[in-house]
Parts: sequence; C-alpha cells; structure tokens
Amino acid sequence: MHVTWTVSPVGYQRIAKRCPACNIKRDFVPSGAFRMNSQKKQLDVWSIYKCLYCDYTWNISLFSRLPVSRIDRELYARIVANDARAIQLFAHDRQILKRNNAELSGVPDFNVREQWRITLVRHQQVKVSIRLTMAFQVSLMSVMKKQLRLSTGEVTRLVNEGKIRGITLRELKNRKNHDTTYELWMSADAFYATRKMRREIVR
Ligand SMILES: [Zn+2]
Repeated sequence: MHVTWTVSPVGYQRIAKRCPACNIKRDFVPSGAFRMNSQKKQLDVWSIYKCLYCDYTWNISLFSRLPVSRIDRELYARIVANDARAIQLFAHDRQILKRNNAELSGVPDFNVREQWRITLVRHQQVKVSIRLTMAFQVSLMSVMKKQLRLSTGEVTRLVNEGKIRGITLRELKNRKNHDTTYELWMSADAFYATRKMRREIVR
C-alpha cells in the first residue's frame, strides 16, 4: 500500500516586525497587492505587507533592478494583475523572506490531500510519501498528527517501537522542511489504528 499526503499551506506565512504605528512588534501579512517600479528598462517589484492591527504597510522586495527583458512574461502578467496565487507563492519563498531579513511568525494552517495506490507487495507495511507543495513552516510531525489523529506522544512511541521507520524524531519535528518528498514506512496496524472506527461503521 502506498499513500501520498500532499500538504499545502492555507493562507500566508506571517512575519513579525516592529510596527512603527502600533509602536510594538506585530504580525504582518501580504495585503494582496504588488508594487512595481520600472526605470531604465529595469524592474523593482515588492509584495506589500500590512500590519494585522493597523494600516501600516511594509514592502518586501521580490526583485530589484531586474532587466525587463529577463522577466518571465506570464509572471509579469500575474504581478500586474496582483494574482493571488503569485502572492501566496512569494509569501512562502524562503529565499525571498531570508533576503528581507523577515522573522517568520507562527505556523500557517495547512490542508492535506490523501491519495492511495494499492500494491500487492509489502502489505504488512504502508509506504507514506509526504509532499509539500511549497516550502513553508510545518513539521512532518504535525502532518502525521493531523492525518493519523494521534498525539505527539503517540507518534513518538510508534517511532521508538519501530512502527514508523525511515524517518527520525528529529526530522519529524523539524519545521524547516523544503519542497521535496519525504518517504517513510508504517506498520499497517499502526496506520489503520485510528481509522478502525470508520471501518466498523461501514461494516
Ligand atoms: Zn500596526
């Protein structure tokens, strides 16, 4: 059995920054608009962030002095249109956030889409692939807790008992995951344990 969990953030990664208007450190989120300046065939593009408590805005630099001829046409059209998907992609772009010295605040909520592929071999084990659609702050531990309806203590116990293999507790707890696929194995008993109720209802 092979299960794939595709994990996508809901909403934006918040950024903590001192708000000059509130005079205190506040969380900022994208306002939903880009700002663009062009000068001498060079582009500067920002995503405009705003304080969650007041109207103060702060620009996160996405590109600076980028030759107009080099920018992807589709991306350019999306920026001009303040495309929501583009704003979300940039809001989770680790390199851009780092370059702007952005301090990440909190963990965005996320959705998990589960897909099954039935295989004939290794049925004592369930292969689990966890794929992040974007590199956002989330731990694989929280994905497992959500999907398996287990506590941190229960997941830890399954790892220690060897019922979850191929990944360490340290890797599970790391929030700085990149947009790659992680693979691990679970004993079928452990995988189905919290789903028993659903099967009994079906029966
Ligand atoms: Zn403010």
